[in-house]
Amino acid sequence: MDDVVTTFINAQGVTEATSAFLARSKAHFIANEWHPSGESMAVLEPSTGGLLAEVPCGDTATVNLAVAAANTAFKSGEWSQWTPVQRERVLMRLADLIEENLQTLAEIESLDAGKAIAGCKEVDIGGSIDVLRYMAGWATKIDGATRSVSVPGEHFAYTLKEPVGVVGAIVPWNWPFNMAIWKLAAPLAVGCSIVLKPAQLTPLSMLYFAELCLEAGLPPGAFNVVLGRGSVVGEALVNHPDINKVSFTGSTPVGIGVGQAAIANLNPVTLELGGKSPMVVFADADIQRVVDATQQSVFFNTGQVCSAGSRIYVQRDIYEQTVAAIAERAASMVVGHVLDEATEMGPAISAGQKASVLEYIAIGKSEGARVVCGGEDPGGEGYFVQPTLLADCHNQMRVVQEEIFGPVLVAIPFDTEEEAIALANDNIYGLAASVFTQDVSRAHRLVRQLEAGTVWVNTHDMIDANTPFGGVKQSGFGKDLGPEQLDHYLKTKSVWMAL
Ligand code: NAD
Repeated sequence: MDDVVTTFINAQGVTEATSAFLARSKAHFIANEWHPSGESMAVLEPSTGGLLAEVPCGDTATVNLAVAAANTAFKSGEWSQWTPVQRERVLMRLADLIEENLQTLAEIESLDAGKAIAGCKEVDIGGSIDVLRYMAGWATKIDGATRSVSVPGEHFAYTLKEPVGVVGAIVPWNWPFNMAIWKLAAPLAVGCSIVLKPAQLTPLSMLYFAELCLEAGLPPGAFNVVLGRGSVVGEALVNHPDINKVSFTGSTPVGIGVGQAAIANLNPVTLELGGKSPMVVFADADIQRVVDATQQSVFFNTGQVCSAGSRIYVQRDIYEQTVAAIAERAASMVVGHVLDEATEMGPAISAGQKASVLEYIAIGKSEGARVVCGGEDPGGEGYFVQPTLLADCHNQMRVVQEEIFGPVLVAIPFDTEEEAIALANDNIYGLAASVFTQDVSRAHRLVRQLEAGTVWVNTHDMIDANTPFGGVKQSGFGKDLGPEQLDHYLKTKSVWMAL
């Protein structure tokens, strides 16, 4: 394996730190120690299909070990009882270490997840640093409240906010580092300990992060990583009787099962699931803004974006013009090797994902869609797909209703505001939506009527650590980010004192 990796690295010119990391043997991270396990799984590089690394594949015993470590840490007060300022300091140090290792982390993530490195540095790693610092700042600001009570006698009543305990967190492959940081920053800030399961396809960046956790001084058991399959490690984790909270990001079908397992143990659960987010474009919209928004959502990260604006409804007066402008920009995108700074779009994550995207394009064609750009298999090595625009679609088509999770945008014309709202809401998902118009009153009407966890006006896919993110309908429930996320990891205890 080392030979394969070394040759590849030399050809690509990654930093020495990346090269050394890829060559190191990999293990689960439990109680600040590395635990190998018998079976291993191959990690493939989506740009080439070649072998990038091998990592251990955990089982129920590995999960038991990690949950026990997290419980020991929590109950001993290591981390959970540290002063808020001590926790804040370690998390800030961790954010600094990520920043110092940004290039290495971005290279690892780009190779592992098929991400164009420029965007990966800015969004995946840079965005994660912001989230970690933001949540670290909250460690010192978790307060209960005094309550005025009206019962007879004299009483002093107040609430205490306490960490829920051990969190089982599961993340998908489309933002391996970023989603993991979203999952771990808030619970660690408030004093929970965590067992995190990365996606099977993209385990590497969390192992590098674990090395940084050691350097930052996170105590043993506060943060643990178990690698492996969802059907084994994921299931063992969410069903474990000794965890106190489940936090899941992934597909809706898997999320429903995860939610049921959590409820069976009466554990609270956060579910960040799939999406098919509409962009609604009125005739008075700035078309360049619309084009830019498609670039930052449905064509960014090869369209493997939960909140991607993957169906666009355009008022008929500007429909052809808008479709043409989007197609022109999409067709000019630089699709290439992920480590090239000029690359705008890398490959799909896997052969299976590429096949699924191509199948959806074929379904769209058979349903009567007009292919305005892309739509072909570019061939060659790796799992590349073309930025694709399917026009003249309607809401009864599968390509309009189902999450494709690739760089495929479907366009549908509409005539009236009422029609646009009805079409946009006619979907099982409700993660996000956007509206493009110069009419402020109309924008506000749409904001209120669109069924989505986030609505953007004249932009799409803007995300910040201070704004909560999460869906409605089949996109799940609960929020990541913002102060709202902290409550998912806190218990409120009411305290009464008779005076
Ligand atoms: P997935 O549901 O297949 O897997 C997600 C994670 O769950 C992986 O770590 C996987 O190993 C694990 N898993 C699989 N089966 C499991 C089981 N039975 N029990 C417990 N864990 C199990 O999703 P994916 O293909 O990795 O990711 C793509 C999906 O994630 C898309 O639907 C996308 O929209 C969604 N997503 C949502 C958000 C959001 O914030 N709403 C963000 C990113 C991705």
